[in-house]
Amino acid sequence: MKWLFLLLFPFSAHAWTGATHHLLVDKSLASVATKWNLNAPVVIVPFENFLVKLAKENPKIQTRADFAEWLQINSAAPFDALHKSEIPDHVTTPLQILSITSPRPDDGRDRRLAIDHLEQFWFGRGTKTVSQAFRHMEKVPFDLLHPLNTFGFPPGPVGQATQRAQIYFDLALLAHRLEEPYWAWNFLGCALHYIEDLQQPFHSSQLIPPLAWKGLQSYFRWGFQEKNGFLKTLTHIASNTHHYFEGYVEMMLGGEHDAPLSTGALWNDALKGKDIFEKPLSARELAKNIRDFSNRYVYDTVEAVLKLTDGNLLGPKIYTTDFEDGPPENPTLFFNPDVFHRTDAAAQISRIVLTNFKYQGTAIRTIVRSFLNQTESKQGG
Ligand SMILES: [Zn+2]
Repeated sequence: MKWLFLLLFPFSAHAWTGATHHLLVDKSLASVATKWNLNAPVVIVPFENFLVKLAKENPKIQTRADFAEWLQINSAAPFDALHKSEIPDHVTTPLQILSITSPRPDDGRDRRLAIDHLEQFWFGRGTKTVSQAFRHMEKVPFDLLHPLNTFGFPPGPVGQATQRAQIYFDLALLAHRLEEPYWAWNFLGCALHYIEDLQQPFHSSQLIPPLAWKGLQSYFRWGFQEKNGFLKTLTHIASNTHHYFEGYVEMMLGGEHDAPLSTGALWNDALKGKDIFEKPLSARELAKNIRDFSNRYVYDTVEAVLKLTDGNLLGPKIYTTDFEDGPPENPTLFFNPDVFHRTDAAAQISRIVLTNFKYQGTAIRTIVRSFLNQTESKQGG
């Protein structure tokens, strides 16, 4: 049964860094913000205000712990806390709330969840982040036309990211109905988080063959001697490449203002626009489309990251990114010294991110527009 271990999901603490989550929202909504009233004033209120109203509607939910249980999240996480920049009774805007909230589901609410053990098994066993991986990723079903990208086990989809997007979207509608606009936008921002995670190609795939092969080689090269288990070495390699891609993207985005044709500026431009997907879709259907779209790029993403870093991610050193707490580890320290290989790899990553950001900008606008359509028509009725 050892082959089964090859198929396990690489676990990861989170997807995009906090800064990238903010930027995805800010840039995607910039050109529609005024027209859609996303700069209108919204008063910041504590979670208790929403909870009191919810408790009247649903007597089973009286405390924040009841709410956490109902939503199947970890009650030890600060899911109900306001951001440090948000002061109760002060005024903010929907755009600011969406931006501040979109990294929030990485706050631990989806960690250490004792649910759906069998499904979680495919995301790596016995780690505290496994349930977060299981919530923030979703492997696409196997497709014979795209065997390398969709490879994995079991062959069907695994993970809950598309479902979580829908759950938070519905929660936003509920908060709106209870006349708690701050919390409606907060929950909508959380829905965007899962939408954004799914656009990261590593989040819509499993341990694809080239990564499994590198993990196997690393195990025999150093994992074995360092008494690292086989599975631990494999997840280390998968996690390093996964996080490096995110750190690299954040670094490149930071260079936006250096030159109008810099990679970061082009990626930012790809997010901008006013278009939305024409076909009416639920949040989950949209999330599934994003998942399937980004998955087609995972093989190329892995190849490009490995080429860009020339084996520097394949040793025992851990590449880290932090949630919200400052920039990721400097990606240039892992660069391939061969500038021609590096240029090829950077160009490949540039195209992958550009294509996915274009799709992401449209998706974020579509979901916000859908929320506005549903809430505005209710106001009208
Ligand atoms: Zn996440």
